[in-house]
Amino acid sequence: MKYQNNLAFAKQQDKEDTLSHLRNRFHIPKDKSGKVWLYFTGNSLGLQPKSTKEYINQELEDWASLGVEGHFEAKNPWLNYHEYLTDKMAKIVGAKSVEVVVMNTLTTNLHLLMVSFYKPTKQKYKIVIESDAFPSDRYAVQSQLKFHGFSEDDVIEWKPREGQELLHIEDLETIVEEQGDEIALLLIGGVNYYTGQFLDLKRIAEIGHSKNCVVGIDLAHGAGNIQPNLHESGVDFAAWCTYKYLNSGPGSLAGLFVHEKHAKNKELPRFAGWWNHNKQTRFNMRQPFDVMEGAEGWQLSNPPILSMAAIKASLDMFDEIGMDALREKSEKLTGYFEFLINEIGSNDIKIITPKNPKERGCQLSIQVKNADKNLHKKLMEKHVITDWREPDVIRCAPVPMYTSFEDVYEMVSILKGLV
Ligand SMILES: *Cc1c(COP(=O)(O)O)cnc(C)c1O
Repeated sequence: MKYQNNLAFAKQQDKEDTLSHLRNRFHIPKDKSGKVWLYFTGNSLGLQPKSTKEYINQELEDWASLGVEGHFEAKNPWLNYHEYLTDKMAKIVGAKSVEVVVMNTLTTNLHLLMVSFYKPTKQKYKIVIESDAFPSDRYAVQSQLKFHGFSEDDVIEWKPREGQELLHIEDLETIVEEQGDEIALLLIGGVNYYTGQFLDLKRIAEIGHSKNCVVGIDLAHGAGNIQPNLHESGVDFAAWCTYKYLNSGPGSLAGLFVHEKHAKNKELPRFAGWWNHNKQTRFNMRQPFDVMEGAEGWQLSNPPILSMAAIKASLDMFDEIGMDALREKSEKLTGYFEFLINEIGSNDIKIITPKNPKERGCQLSIQVKNADKNLHKKLMEKHVITDWREPDVIRCAPVPMYTSFEDVYEMVSILKGLV
């Protein structure tokens, strides 16, 4: 696509954008003086769809008028509420419905998945993560190692090469080739939170499986952003939160994926509660535990309906629009963002996210020379919300659902004035 560095071009793109109307279906935050923010942090907390309130109110009203009977009599009976989310969530991550469930929060899900899929032996116990893994993921795997009697130094880091920022898949290949006999698990961020690099999940699965290592993916920065095709990729498990690109509200419940090949394996070790017990006999009480097949077989508790109502509001929108259309706009919009930043031609900033649209989602990570945090602060003062990540990166995500080409143009004009 041929881009132009002028406002008229940006406005024309918005006119031609078949998704531009979606912006009006979100609340866009304003500052104290009433000025609308240029919001580039949907990768941290997605904006609130205007419909969310109605969805939550529905459940509040049904709770008020029905009490416990709401489990059966609510407009959306609570008993099976999570099932309303499954098919739509599965479509977003490219999975079969049996492979997906919404439950708990992300780090909790990673732990529950490791209970089943991290089965270290004396010889084969190490865990591979990216050197720039999100801290929570690193702490989670370190604590799993320690829980099983190993050391937190038994983490192997997949690192960028000297002087580089991005990961090379060949380097993971080398790690697994050389040390695979000692590696039990690869737990990799599908889209790296820091650089925005979208890794080839299918390759990662093949590499891990070539030495009988289990492969798990953290999709916190992938779900609702890129199309991970989880089923097809062959990874064993995945988990992601819903408050980033999935616009489901702060701390909302997370997604979990277990590949179909494990769906019927009742021998996998796992923790149990009444919610992963057979639905048909769950309320008969005094039954021996009978685990459900598929991803539902990892649930423990009856889930918070109010959080799921917010997720339902968001997933209904995703379902209406479809990831194909969102992704198409996203590639154009982020491409435009990249083009404009490069047009600034400053040596003070450098995009470290991959140039190839297939290797990134909507986020661009801008490395700032001398780690000058002031730039981030000055952007805030000019109504641009971005996010500063130590040591030296400003992450910006033009989310296709509610960001316009004009927003992107304006944002970069402001950035240009500051560098
Ligand atoms: C956002 C994020 C988390 C957050 O974990 P929670 O359990 O939801 O608090 C974890 N891992 C990654 C990679 C993330 O991007």
